[in-house]
Amino acid sequence: MSHTSFPDAVREHADLARGALLVGLVGTGIGPSLSPALHEGEARRLGVRYRYRRIDLADWGLAPEAVGDVLAITRDAGYRGLNITHPCKQAVLPHLDELSADAEALGAVNTVVFEGGRAVGHNTDWSGFTRGLAVGLPGAALGSVVLLGAGGAGAAVAYGLLTAGAGTVHVADLDGDRSAALVESLRTGFGAGRAVAVHGDDGLAAAIGSADGLVHATPTGMAEHPGLPLPADLLRRDLWVAEVVYRPLDTELVTTARARGCRVLDGGRMFAYQAAQGFRLFTGEEPDVDRMLSHFDHLVRTSGEGTSDVG
Ligand code: NAD
Repeated sequence: MSHTSFPDAVREHADLARGALLVGLVGTGIGPSLSPALHEGEARRLGVRYRYRRIDLADWGLAPEAVGDVLAITRDAGYRGLNITHPCKQAVLPHLDELSADAEALGAVNTVVFEGGRAVGHNTDWSGFTRGLAVGLPGAALGSVVLLGAGGAGAAVAYGLLTAGAGTVHVADLDGDRSAALVESLRTGFGAGRAVAVHGDDGLAAAIGSADGLVHATPTGMAEHPGLPLPADLLRRDLWVAEVVYRPLDTELVTTARARGCRVLDGGRMFAYQAAQGFRLFTGEEPDVDRMLSHFDHLVRTSGEGTSDVG
């Protein structure tokens, strides 16, 4: 633990940046995050002077609720903005001056831009997923989609799917309260028939049996949660499968679904596209999204399995 106070450390970092555009990632346990390398790499290639710093609340003994102080301190130190990750995407909401319509509807923010002293919240997770799906699985049918996992990533995916015109999203989660809450909020935003909760193994099998696609948004498949999130024989070859886990990119679901002949999207595109959208908001520059995607792929494959894939 450093002896420098948190505000002093932020100011020191800002001074060291010497006029470069300064951006931070705020969350807990973000040491292994690939976002700094991804953002700074793109800035270098575009000739933008840009520094992207990790602000790990755990390093400073700070609770998620301290995110409001972090906003005030970084804004005053001259930061251009922040990415917000677990566990602060909702905790940050009361501290913002303005929200994009999508972030407001989703009730979660992963990007904050300081505009003339005002903190403006955006959500690029949902748009990253939707764009990644459109480019990575062009023409994927969206009549009926099963979403496994109703946490933060699942909520962004569901919002993205329905915004992109999905007919019905069938939501399954081990925690029935979570799937019910997500379904409720989706019905409020998009209409009663657009979201349905799925119950139990039989309910999941039936929903997948008549679905066009499956999106997986639980932590299963990460290095510390290995395995398949559902029985392999539910993966019919005419079902498309989108994964949100990206460390590793080739999760057991991805490799199993490919082997069974499904069209498969790994979790890399969602991540790279949300990062590209954040970069655009912070810099006003147009990033080369394909270059960011291949850089991200390289970073994931060379950084080891990692123990965390936040931000
Ligand atoms: P979370 O903890 O908020 O939610 C996970 C949900 O999955 C919980 O509701 C939990 O009950 C449920 N769950 C766990 N195991 C299950 C199972 N076997 N069957 C059904 N439900 C199950 O986590 P999160 O923030 O939503 O993150 C989920 C994953 O998505 C993580 O691996 C995260 O890193 C990844 N993610 C990826 C991106 C990206 O850009 N690709 C963005 C955000 C999150």
